[in-house]
Amino acid sequence: MDKVPSFNLDHDKVRAPYVRLCDRIETPHGDLITKFDIRFTQPNVAYLDSAAMHTIEHIVAELSRDYWPGEVVDFSPMGCKTGFYLTLLGEHSTMGVAAKMEAILKRLASWDQPIPGATRRTCGNWQFHDLEKAKAAARAWVEGIGKKGYDPFIA
Ligand SMILES: [Zn+2]
Repeated sequence: MDKVPSFNLDHDKVRAPYVRLCDRIETPHGDLITKFDIRFTQPNVAYLDSAAMHTIEHIVAELSRDYWPGEVVDFSPMGCKTGFYLTLLGEHSTMGVAAKMEAILKRLASWDQPIPGATRRTCGNWQFHDLEKAKAAARAWVEGIGKKGYDPFIA
């Protein structure tokens, strides 16, 4: 078996969009870290736009702190461009994470403010953003989850 948990996931068996607990790490000091696979598009079928992913990364980084204060370790894009990883401190249920992600992505879908952190000083590629495509991807995620639920193995 591979050491990386997601390398053991059969990407043909999942149905996007979905939320999946993909790792649970207990530190030597007894803290718990939980990592979730927040999938947007069907693996090996459809991909997110790169600039839209960058915008989603910025806005969710900002909004997620409202929903998990003091617990967000990271929200980062997958290199395959089909979703994101959300890493949190502590124990979190998949259903609870899915409900909060739905609230966050609903807010993103109607975002009408400047993209947080999208300045030359605060971002490594500050002009590389696409708010309209980010909003469309967030809307598609919310609609998809509304239709099929968050379970990756139920179409
Ligand atoms: Zn950036």
